[in-house]
Amino acid sequence: MAAPRDWLGTVEAEGIAGRQGSSGVEVVFPSDPATPAPLCPHGPTLLFVKVNQGKEETRRFYACSACRDRKDCNFFQWEDEKLSGARLAAREAHNQKCQPPLSRTQCVERYVKFIELPLSQRKFCQGCQQLLLPDDWERHQEHRVVGDISVTQLKRPSQLLYPLENKKTNAQYLFTDRSCQFLVDLLSTLGFTRVLCVGTPRLHELIRLKASGEKKSNIKSLLLDIDFRYSQFYMEDSFCHYNMFNHHFFDGKAALEVCRTFLQEDKGEGVIMVTDPPFGGLVEPLAVTFKKLIAMWKEGQSQDSNQKELPIFWIFPYFFEFRIRQFFPSFCMLDYQVDYDNHALYKHGKTGRKQSPVRIFTNIPPNKIILPSEEGYRFCPLCQRYVSLENQHCEHCNSCTSKDGRKWNHCFLCKKCVKPSWIHCSICSHCALPDHSCGGPKDGCFICGELDHKRSTCPKIATSKKVNNTLFFRAVRKQKQRKSNKMKMGTTKGQSMNHTSVTRKKSRRERAHQYLCS
Ligand code: SAH
Ligand code: ZN
Ligand code: ZN
Ligand code: ZN
Ligand code: ZN
Repeated sequence: MAAPRDWLGTVEAEGIAGRQGSSGVEVVFPSDPATPAPLCPHGPTLLFVKVNQGKEETRRFYACSACRDRKDCNFFQWEDEKLSGARLAAREAHNQKCQPPLSRTQCVERYVKFIELPLSQRKFCQGCQQLLLPDDWERHQEHRVVGDISVTQLKRPSQLLYPLENKKTNAQYLFTDRSCQFLVDLLSTLGFTRVLCVGTPRLHELIRLKASGEKKSNIKSLLLDIDFRYSQFYMEDSFCHYNMFNHHFFDGKAALEVCRTFLQEDKGEGVIMVTDPPFGGLVEPLAVTFKKLIAMWKEGQSQDSNQKELPIFWIFPYFFEFRIRQFFPSFCMLDYQVDYDNHALYKHGKTGRKQSPVRIFTNIPPNKIILPSEEGYRFCPLCQRYVSLENQHCEHCNSCTSKDGRKWNHCFLCKKCVKPSWIHCSICSHCALPDHSCGGPKDGCFICGELDHKRSTCPKIATSKKVNNTLFFRAVRKQKQRKSNKMKMGTTKGQSMNHTSVTRKKSRRERAHQYLCS
């Protein structure tokens, strides 16, 4: 079975959507699906189509919505494939086996027991990433176990757990204190009382810390995340194990109801959704999910507030602006640069390309969102929004045009502002990098397709590996083992795909080289 699954290709297609000749895999949402999508361990799969030189291939297939790497979930099924009863049963069994070992209720029971233990008995296994009860100690004897887990530590699980940095699935990049504090203060200034955190565990925990702190705030928070480890630290009403690429609640209806109740409380007043999805993910499935959450919120609205929109902060790189606005035309992009702890390249205070490309997209009027002047942001009265220090108002474009925080220059031939590093090319009749190849294919980042950075500096590709524990090394070892097994396998089935993907990878690398040297 040759599985045409190449998520890098997908993302590439996404980032350069609209460009001709793009190749990769795209997700399709049939308006009238004949059959429901089959299930993988991560809920309903998505329907994909391979695109070659801008043309769709006819045979479509289902694959996992959450994992962009076959190593993490190898679900594959042609759209027209009929499975035998035995295979369906085997799949069902496999899906069951992949579910977390403990139910949500069991996790909560364990947590309650754990907090009742005296400090000296509160242990955490770093290898298994698990809080231990006395009965578990023996089984973890040989593992790296830390003791004396304080209440403060329990309230900051994102510091106790290591970030899952496997970039193709979890891509867990945690906010710096600076960015997280900014967000919490902003949410409170804007008067929100409930925050639906979709894939923002660190924001969730900071909101809760503030709510229980000395200067009590009254903001409530509900976290939806695919990282099951968090279920050890929260009760049912503040964490749901959730897949944001298919709006799947792993714990079924009860969890869905937790979310619904949260959104509809107070007739839907005072709630905002904040999301920071993995950047490698496709925009469309995310947009479909967010529209479902919006619909859920709307159901609880009273008639007279029908025109209102659910306030949203969608945190994503600036080069996805076009895509996001295709689905949410009312969103605007703020200049605020969001940065991350475990991403060495995107930290605040560095210059040039090392500035974070991550922004906040929102449907809240930007003049209401005050950006910190001590970081150089200022208000542009003409644009009615806060902009970064070097983002100057262009009188020809009549707007503050910089997207990346650097000062952009107006090109009279292109009739728009362009990046400072670009010059107008008379052959291509638009602006480009000085040593681009004229008329040649536009090579950009292989992750997101954008032209102004390379794959190695794409947001959420980890460069700092502070993860250093047995589980991590075990995972790496396994991965290596799998790789060598694959090589040993020789020409068994499935290899035809590997072969093409090798050639693809190679040409990509060549293109990367070309780009790096330009
Ligand atoms: N900056 C945020 C974390 C963003 S990283 C913070 O500091 O709070 C992306 C988050 O999305 C991670 O927590 C990851 O576990 C979660 N995630 C990744 N894939 C997901 C999926 N398919 N569904 C739901 N959450 C997902
Ligand atoms: Zn899956
Ligand atoms: Zn201009
Ligand atoms: Zn130009
Ligand atoms: Zn040119």
